[in-house]
Amino acid sequence: MSSNFIEIFGENVFNDKAMQKYLLPNVYASLQSVSRGAQLTIEIADAVAEGMLAFATERGATHYTHWFQPMNGLTAEKHDAFLSLDAYNRPIKFLTGKALIKGEADGSSFPSGGLRATFEARGYTTWDCTSPAFVREGGSGMTVLCIPTAFCSFSGQALDEKTPLLRSMEAINREALRVLKQLGVPANSVVPMVGGEQEYFLIDKEIAKYRKDLTYTGRTLFGAPPAKGQELEDQYYAPVNDRVSAFMDELNHELWKVGVLSKTQHNEAAPSQYELAPYFSTANIATDQNQLIMEYMRTIADRHGFVCLLHEKPFDWINGSGKHNNWSLVTDTGVNLLKRDKSGPNKAFLTFFIATISALDSFPELMRASCSTLGNDCRLGGNEAPPPIISAYIGQTMAGDLERVENNKGTTDGAGVEKMTIGVSSLAVLHKDDADRNRTSPFAFTGNKFEFRMVGASQSLAFANTALNTAVADQLARLAEKLESAADKEAALNDWMRESVVEHKRVVFNGNNYSKEWVEEAVRRGLPILGNAVSAVETLTKERVVEVFARMGVLSREELAARQDIMLRQYAKQMHIEALTMLKMSRKELLPASVKQLKAYADAFNALNATGLGLDSSVEALLRRVSEGINGMHDAVEALAAEIRKEEKNEVPLARARFQRERVRPAMEKLRLAADELERIVDKELWPLPSYGEMLFV
Ligand code: ADP
Ligand code: MG
Repeated sequence: MSSNFIEIFGENVFNDKAMQKYLLPNVYASLQSVSRGAQLTIEIADAVAEGMLAFATERGATHYTHWFQPMNGLTAEKHDAFLSLDAYNRPIKFLTGKALIKGEADGSSFPSGGLRATFEARGYTTWDCTSPAFVREGGSGMTVLCIPTAFCSFSGQALDEKTPLLRSMEAINREALRVLKQLGVPANSVVPMVGGEQEYFLIDKEIAKYRKDLTYTGRTLFGAPPAKGQELEDQYYAPVNDRVSAFMDELNHELWKVGVLSKTQHNEAAPSQYELAPYFSTANIATDQNQLIMEYMRTIADRHGFVCLLHEKPFDWINGSGKHNNWSLVTDTGVNLLKRDKSGPNKAFLTFFIATISALDSFPELMRASCSTLGNDCRLGGNEAPPPIISAYIGQTMAGDLERVENNKGTTDGAGVEKMTIGVSSLAVLHKDDADRNRTSPFAFTGNKFEFRMVGASQSLAFANTALNTAVADQLARLAEKLESAADKEAALNDWMRESVVEHKRVVFNGNNYSKEWVEEAVRRGLPILGNAVSAVETLTKERVVEVFARMGVLSREELAARQDIMLRQYAKQMHIEALTMLKMSRKELLPASVKQLKAYADAFNALNATGLGLDSSVEALLRRVSEGINGMHDAVEALAAEIRKEEKNEVPLARARFQRERVRPAMEKLRLAADELERIVDKELWPLPSYGEMLFV
């Protein structure tokens, strides 16, 4: 399908090439200066809108939308037709500059965490000219021009995920430039670059539709382990089957059109699990693109008869899905500040490397909280994903570098490149990577970037990067202050490095993060262990966290509290839906099916007795087992129902979420155990749910 990929890449993006074609040279130049910080006038906006209108309608768009990301982690849009009437009531194509740059979302229906009362329900969307507009073709539906926008309240408070991310990018740019100036490294801007690897499952739509749990919650709430899971390791990197391959082909094709450079795809470790990695871009664009990737995955899967599951843990017993957030800092002169030279670390690299490690150790709760959702709770610490302890893997080379810093042995070793041979002379001699793969660390240095692996598969990338940018910017600000006032800058830098390494090296762990020993070691080191989303999200309003966001100008106290409120409510609502779904499925599907089985065995038992032959029979044992199973499950259903009733009385978000975690969740687990036991012994013809085997191995 995609043989003409060079032509189609970015063809629906209002990118540089499109701007040059659709805008007059002076308008194009003005817009360029706007993206570098100049004021956007209504004259420029009008001219840009005209060009965008031509661009979009040539591609079949009939509507435009301000495309934004409210605080529920999803995207939102409201379509407006380009169609209007002129003074003589004749239909015309129409898009004004005003409509392009500013919209009103009558959005009392978006979560605001108390930032906006319903009587002042107005929210405003404003054009983000740093992320390009694009035309989204509708398949069989409508074709729409999507204009990425920020979303804020009347008084300018952020009501979305994008605004804080953009502010955090400004903060890290500002502070990094201060530091670079002191180091004598020329640069006009520093931008965090992000590549988000996306894991997902594809399940046959015809099978998935029989599972209310998948439909309502995105994960299975019941299901006995299949005879085969992922133990044969026969899925990871295995050849992709034709049906999935057709899906991937269309997905790539559609993503390329809207300028998302989906680059790598492969089978993941669990059956029916896959991964897509796009080529990295600025944190802002990468976040927008990740939203598009998730949206396209869902809609294109549907066209191919699949359901795409982006939940962090759709199935027990096998791996869940994450979203690895690869992050680096790049200057406008093309220097990746987090790339270690093969010949040894240079001063700028070591500075930014140490600042990042220090940031991680200074705000571990924040980093943990940024990945805290109900879904991710099911995944973290499950021997397939990092445990809920923030640490960094830096590899042996960097460990050596930091040791030299600590012992004041200078900052470069010039040790040269270590060669690695693999014993087959016909194969090229590989240069040994600076950091070997460590797949268990939540935050791993991979030679030219850090990979934050805690983010959940269904989450927006925005908050994790907002948190990371802010924490690192804060370290850079402290350093900049020191250097700016130091007489001997070289000595001041060395002191800062040494002190930082001494203070923060406890966050470095190069071993196996999945091991029991690491948890014990982390306790000894005094690293926080936030075992669940609720206790992690609670820490968001700790004074230190409030202060760093305020200091860096990223989130005000109120904005942060709103985010916390929303995260807790989201957790509570989702858990509530899961618990109710379990009750419904149990009462209306699983118990009735089990009773049919009971009756079948009882009939058989009676029929046997009626023969009068006095036959010895295990039917009685089967009958008893099913009967006991039903009793156990019924008790578990009632126990869960009782906890839900108590939970519903609780209005305070934090208290409610805590109660759910402590009381509702365990009751759900008991019910699942009881139901899974029955699944094992009830006739497959009677059991109403497709089994794990049927879902995962078709
Ligand atoms: P790995 O094998 O370490 O996972 P890949 O080269 O496959 O590395 O890249 C994984 C992701 O990281 C991709 O999305 C890629 O574009 C992104 N990436 C590569 N270099 C950088 C960088 N300097 N900054 C941010 N992301 C990057
Ligand atoms: Mg990776």
